[in-house]
Amino acid sequence: MPYDTQPIASHFIDGEYVEDTAGDVIEVIYPATGEVIAKVHAATPAIVDRALASAKVAHAEWAAMSGTERGRILRRAADIMRERNHDLSILETYDTGKPMSETTIADATSGADALEYFGGLAGALTGEHIPLAGGDFVYTRRESLGVCVGIGAWNYPTQIACWKGAPALACGNTMVFKPSEVTPLCALKVAEILVEAGAPKGVYNVIQGMGAVGASLVTDPRVAKVSLTGSVPTGKKVYAAAAAEMKHVTMELGGKSPLIVFDDADIESAVSGAINANFYSTGQVCSNGTRVFVQKGIKEKFLSRMAERMGDAVIGDPMDMETTIGPMASDRQLQIVEGYIAKGIEEGARLVKGGKRLDKDGYWIEPTLFADVTDDMTIAREEIFGPVLSVLDFETEGDVMTRANATDFGLAAGVFTADLTRAHRVVAGFEAGTCYINTYNLAPVEAPFGGSKASGVGRENSKEAINHYSEVKTVYVSMNPCEAPF
Ligand code: NAD
Repeated sequence: MPYDTQPIASHFIDGEYVEDTAGDVIEVIYPATGEVIAKVHAATPAIVDRALASAKVAHAEWAAMSGTERGRILRRAADIMRERNHDLSILETYDTGKPMSETTIADATSGADALEYFGGLAGALTGEHIPLAGGDFVYTRRESLGVCVGIGAWNYPTQIACWKGAPALACGNTMVFKPSEVTPLCALKVAEILVEAGAPKGVYNVIQGMGAVGASLVTDPRVAKVSLTGSVPTGKKVYAAAAAEMKHVTMELGGKSPLIVFDDADIESAVSGAINANFYSTGQVCSNGTRVFVQKGIKEKFLSRMAERMGDAVIGDPMDMETTIGPMASDRQLQIVEGYIAKGIEEGARLVKGGKRLDKDGYWIEPTLFADVTDDMTIAREEIFGPVLSVLDFETEGDVMTRANATDFGLAAGVFTADLTRAHRVVAGFEAGTCYINTYNLAPVEAPFGGSKASGVGRENSKEAINHYSEVKTVYVSMNPCEAPF
């Protein structure tokens, strides 16, 4: 292994690496080869307690600093992340299997964007002054919530650690972050970098573990807020547990998003959009537009261009910058995807391209294109979380809008058309949190990101995230003697 993937210890608590070998062993596997590249231990109750205690103590000092001071530390962390982008990208590739052509531009860089953006905002977070009759007035204080718990999915381990950590810390909260057990390595680097940038010990802690460790964090009385990125079933459990104690939540969950291509669209551009909406990160992106509705008149042209362009995908060594498709992140996810492909064939979808597992070590599957998919098929209803694109036909705008929205999910949606009026009408009609016109799957930190319906609660990124990591205290100030009825 040319790069040392074994972390110094499993957890990062109170400003330093901490080990407790009593916790269950979690093997970290490089998905491209199936090799074990590191071992960490799940947090024991003692580790969970230590991390929460540290975050609780750190909160007082961190919240008392000025926003400008906190922001300076976050921005310094952003600079360090950018300087180390190459090494962090290699680690991200080992952790997830995503190709370096992606990780060098989409992971530590987007984490750094979040640290820089929220670092910049931190000094500008204020309450307001509200004048009232008779000289009285109200002012509001924007206050931190306290200890926030972040729980991550395995597709973007660095990005998720930063998308949750940066706004939480900017607002004066502290965090205990639990990465996915599939990708435990990258968040430790985020914690290390924050300390190097000057974050006081205990402000950002990372502990490892499976769902049970996440569950024990969610119910702890020291925790004020939980932000989860994960599947809808996990989200429902975590939301319910948090609600029982009236904790704040952000839920970034799954999707089955529609992407509508009208017959006046630029076909090359629409094919590019559908590629980005289905094959980036080997299809393991929550906002993917996996139901591609193509208007009947251009369907065959769309399918043939898509099949041709899929032939240009470079599937191979993720460390090679020419590679554009890596493996699935885990054997389990590979089996799930294979199961859905089999189901698609069984239920009568037309397999146009791909669909086969590659005969080599690691968790490889070909990017897959299905046509003649109908709304009732399993592959059109359930989140696959793999490189499987389903093309469904449609004739009219009215018909496709009803079908696009006929899902419990509501994460994202997109439309390709040359008709400006129609584009805006269609996105206004989408029941989804994040919409795209003539593009797909871009998520700049300046824009709110999140889902409606079962896909989530709250928004990450942008100024919106501040509302989910702080609360407003109202202070009524009387300038007059206090009166009472008796
Ligand atoms: P998952 O739901 O299996 O696990 C997510 C995290 O929750 C993991 O860290 C897991 O250990 C933890 N967890 C599991 N059970 C828990 C419990 N009872 N209490 C507390 N924590 C618990 O999801 P996954 O397989 O890691 O990720 C894939 C899913 O994440 C997909 O559905 C995908 O769409 C979604 N996702 C959403 C976004 C978004 O921003 N909306 C981004 C990435 C992934």
